[in-house]
Amino acid sequence: MIRIEPEPWAAMVSHAQSTYPNECCGAMIGSITDDKLVRVALPLQHAFEGAQAARYELRPEDLLAADKAARDRQMDLIGIYHSHPDCDAYFSKTDLQNSCPWYSFVVLSIQKGEFHHANSWLPNFEQTEAAKEELSY
Ligand SMILES: [Zn+2]
Repeated sequence: MIRIEPEPWAAMVSHAQSTYPNECCGAMIGSITDDKLVRVALPLQHAFEGAQAARYELRPEDLLAADKAARDRQMDLIGIYHSHPDCDAYFSKTDLQNSCPWYSFVVLSIQKGEFHHANSWLPNFEQTEAAKEELSY
């Protein structure tokens, strides 16, 4: 189960709406006990060169920086969020290929520029499928 505090959630939604019709991506930082609690959302640069409406790409160094930002706050890097403009919050094949099994992946569906719904996904170790994770915000 992953919970997102109101402040990072608002930041994620406004980030996703501001990059529409392109995708956005960012890191979720917080604490992991029994549940995962996201306390900070960190927007990251969308590194894919090409059409940004259908996929996103993170640079490894940005992910490392996010991990360091988490540790500087005595927190953990919990996962990655990105948006799906005019698309459901499913986990695509490309998303799977770009995933890491130890993170939560939150997908925000932005329809016509407005937040519509979100899901969190947990990829398996083979990166062949992702299970839906309970998400609250
Ligand atoms: Zn995606």
